[in-house]
Amino acid sequence: MNGLMMQQPLLISSLLVHAERHHGAQEIVSRRTEGDLHRYTFRELARRARRMAKAIQALGVGQGDRVATLAWNGYRHLELYYAVSGSGAVLHTLNPRLHPDQLGWIVANAEDRVLCFDQTFLPLVEKVAPLLKSVQHVVLLCDRTHMPARCSIPNLLCYEDLIDAHSDDYAWPQLDENLASSLCYTSGTTGNPKGVLYSHRSTVLHTYASALPDALNLSSRDTVLPVVPMFHVNAWGLPYAACMVGAKVVFPGAQLDGASLHELFESERVTVSAGVPTVWQGLLTHVEAHGLNFSTMRRTVIGGSACSPAMIRSFEEQYRVQVLHAWGMTELSPLGTVCILQPKHAELPVDAQLQVQAKQGQSLFGIDMKIVDAHGQELPWDGQASGELLVRGHWVAQSYFRGEGGDPLVDGWFPTGDVSTIDADGYMQITDRAKDVIKSGGEWIGSIDIENIAMACPGVAMAACIGVKHPKWDERPLLVVVPKPGAQLGKAEVLGFLSGKIAKWWTPDDVVFVDAIPLGATGKMLKHKLRESFKDYLMPAA
Ligand code: AMP
Repeated sequence: MNGLMMQQPLLISSLLVHAERHHGAQEIVSRRTEGDLHRYTFRELARRARRMAKAIQALGVGQGDRVATLAWNGYRHLELYYAVSGSGAVLHTLNPRLHPDQLGWIVANAEDRVLCFDQTFLPLVEKVAPLLKSVQHVVLLCDRTHMPARCSIPNLLCYEDLIDAHSDDYAWPQLDENLASSLCYTSGTTGNPKGVLYSHRSTVLHTYASALPDALNLSSRDTVLPVVPMFHVNAWGLPYAACMVGAKVVFPGAQLDGASLHELFESERVTVSAGVPTVWQGLLTHVEAHGLNFSTMRRTVIGGSACSPAMIRSFEEQYRVQVLHAWGMTELSPLGTVCILQPKHAELPVDAQLQVQAKQGQSLFGIDMKIVDAHGQELPWDGQASGELLVRGHWVAQSYFRGEGGDPLVDGWFPTGDVSTIDADGYMQITDRAKDVIKSGGEWIGSIDIENIAMACPGVAMAACIGVKHPKWDERPLLVVVPKPGAQLGKAEVLGFLSGKIAKWWTPDDVVFVDAIPLGATGKMLKHKLRESFKDYLMPAA
């Protein structure tokens, strides 16, 4: 017997309709490429998104057609999030930090029909223009007065002209919830990137789960500033969650340095933010150097790479900002787990609490996970056994756009390529990316553990641990360190700091100091590049 309840499609447009009705006066503040701070409300967002939906239809964009964006976090980008997906087309966010050839390849693979971009990216768009064969319309996200006097892009359209040309008299279509809503390519550190195609249903379910108290804990009392870019995995879903709960939104635009972010946190009374550890490193350095604090910020979500206990300690003890350590992937929309302490953890000493918080946490309701050994056998949840992490759930990709790479699933589970442990309470901890694991004497050394400890060493700004070839042990760990500005650091201090905190055979054989560690388009350390740089490195004799 079926239940007798209504069946309504889960649609992205309904998030905006809800926000307009219930939180119409809530503010959206954006630092613009024009140089000023723009302010308006959810009510105006909804009206302009409807006008934009009509505008893109007038450009000939139909259901399922891809509309690409090359833009910072800002209100016009947000309008496109709703106008494009809400009208049945597919929003394709492009990462401007990718190599122009890779961008051209992605646009061609996606067959984007329209490209909308921020002024900052005009030189980039001019450069890749010859590769954009599928693109019929190119739109600059600005008003008429900011249109370039001259540029090499023929028939460049002005975003505000498109908005002005249409009324807001538009009803969002009642789409099938399984239709594609947005597209994001994986960063593709090796080989071509693969497209992950989200649906309205997967996006709305991800939004419900991510807003919950034991996830990102968002509400209409919050002011949220997503540092995490809207051009990669939909800014971790925050543009949707903000509408669902009616939180005030502050967009930082192109200015992501510590000083600009801190100024915005304070002036707009931001309560919650989200970003990768490298961004927070810059912010903490600025705040520390200038003796500042956070007067309204209550919590920050940190993910994308492991957040070290040293960073968690700084935020929580020095600045009273709670860290929500989160793990996810492009293929997971992206949130899979969030680390929140349970009441029983409050009894633990601070150091033990930090050890729990260094874990990536428990899965959100809607995501299942398991770890398996090299033969695919499931491993126990004992916090010790480590193996490849597999996931399944309502917002996990089941295949890639155009079937790229074949069927990725193993018995219905998505193999993440991450190696992790899971403890008896279900807290997952990533020990490594499978391809970054250091294999020494037939055993595995988890590089993240070593990096986490090294990051707590006074004077260390960033640390990466990689395996380098060794005649006897196959590979041995080498620690690559970026010192804090002005710090006088030697090998002996770093190795001395590690001593006693990790197993002896895990201790790096050597430490090298560098000015910078190469970062990828999403702010992750590019360990394959580091391995390449140090491939001929000779470890000192033991
Ligand atoms: P992307 O698809 O570009 O978002 O990258 C996903 C990958 O980032 C994951 O498979 C992990 O290897 C890594 N990652 C994400 N969050 C974390 C985290 N909190 N700790 C460690 N690695 C992470």
